[in-house]
Amino acid sequence: METTKFTLTEQEIPTSWYNILPDLPEPMPPVLHPATGKPVVPDDLAPIFPMELIMQEMSPEQYIEIPEEIQNIYRLWRPTPLFRAHRLEKALDTPAKIFYKYEGVSPMGSHKGNTAVAQAYYNKQEGTKRIATETGAGQWGSALSFGCNCFGLECKVYMVRISYDQKPYRRIAMETWGATCVPSPSKDTEAGRAILAQDPDTSGSLGIAISEAVEDAAKREDTKYSLGSVLNHVLLHQTVEGLEAKKQLEKADAYPDVIIGCVGGGSNFGGVLIPFIPDKLAGRKVRIICTEPESCPTMTRGPYAYDHGDVAGLTPLIKMYTLGHTFVPPPVHAGGLRYHGMSPIISHLHHLGLIEAAAVHQVAAFKSAITFARTEGIIPAPEPAHAIKIVIDEALACKESGEQKTILLALSGHGHFDLAAYDAYLSGKLIDYAYPGDKIEEALSHLPTVPVA
Ligand SMILES: *Cc1c(COP(=O)(O)O)cnc(C)c1O
Repeated sequence: METTKFTLTEQEIPTSWYNILPDLPEPMPPVLHPATGKPVVPDDLAPIFPMELIMQEMSPEQYIEIPEEIQNIYRLWRPTPLFRAHRLEKALDTPAKIFYKYEGVSPMGSHKGNTAVAQAYYNKQEGTKRIATETGAGQWGSALSFGCNCFGLECKVYMVRISYDQKPYRRIAMETWGATCVPSPSKDTEAGRAILAQDPDTSGSLGIAISEAVEDAAKREDTKYSLGSVLNHVLLHQTVEGLEAKKQLEKADAYPDVIIGCVGGGSNFGGVLIPFIPDKLAGRKVRIICTEPESCPTMTRGPYAYDHGDVAGLTPLIKMYTLGHTFVPPPVHAGGLRYHGMSPIISHLHHLGLIEAAAVHQVAAFKSAITFARTEGIIPAPEPAHAIKIVIDEALACKESGEQKTILLALSGHGHFDLAAYDAYLSGKLIDYAYPGDKIEEALSHLPTVPVA
């Protein structure tokens, strides 16, 4: 009998997160103050983040202990299972071994709870009463709503307009967990009002929603801001995924030749791939492929440059792959992949040649997701559907070559709140958007000039 699910006991859940910063072969380029061009210091960030998260953002420690209170909540859904995709392998008639680490078993249906709970905890510790945040497809907003609820914090979520309209169930989930959710751009902030004045029918973007949430937090004494992706401390919290996956693969007597995941801001895949980087630096052969939509091709088409994290240009300047902070991507269904920038850690690893990137059209992504759903049962979220497309390509290439590669897929969440997108695909209404070259060029012309420090 062949094993399908590789599970761990609760005692085997990692008790520390792994921080890659001290192990990088070259240090990361500094985050810069937008006005002075000088590297950002902890005090610059103190108005919007609790100090512990700021220290984690720059920590020189290899391992950071997960506080007991956070571990207790993790045990509601962790450890998450690692599956061997026997049925998908058979359907593809491939000699490849496909494993997937599945984060959809959490109450919010994705990996985002891993950092939401941690961020809410550290905010509570430091006296925060209320957290403001943005959400794309709604996964982050729902995860933070639950996290805040665990520690008795108020939560205000600015939700990208297109998703607010496409995915009402996400808003209802947020409200169920006790949060307040408004469509972004909203009339509640100056940034939102300015955008609405220019373009009342805008579908919104994560960049705009971030501007709103940052402004909200900066203006209120009792409120901090929280980001569900991109930042170093977010990827740090997500490493619990990769650390578990490594133990589970050991139980399966396997080690991946290829690791594939999707990147919006880079947090779920960062969390899976980062614990494998030390092995790669030590000479182990492992390919790591980040997948993104053709309509928002940050890593495959964008330059590696200093840019703002938000549309209004309120955030510090971050060196990252970017399509320009004013870029508004087409309204594809993978809302979580519609971000103009990329995690600076993922960007740095790509710049160093340690990881690769591939872009996928949404129709091909959904086609692959259907194959996955009909073999493995799980209906994937539209975001990891992009990664599944590349997994299937790799597995079919193995069929051609006869190679028996081991493939690890980061399956970041389920698509139960995205069934309207499946409906569009199944009824032939889903369309691909051409590479938005002219819009990207336009946005790149607004890249900020880095002030000379
Ligand atoms: C948010 C989300 C993503 C994209 O964000 P990352 O920070 O790149 O992980 C991918 N998959 C799911 C299921 C998500 O909820």
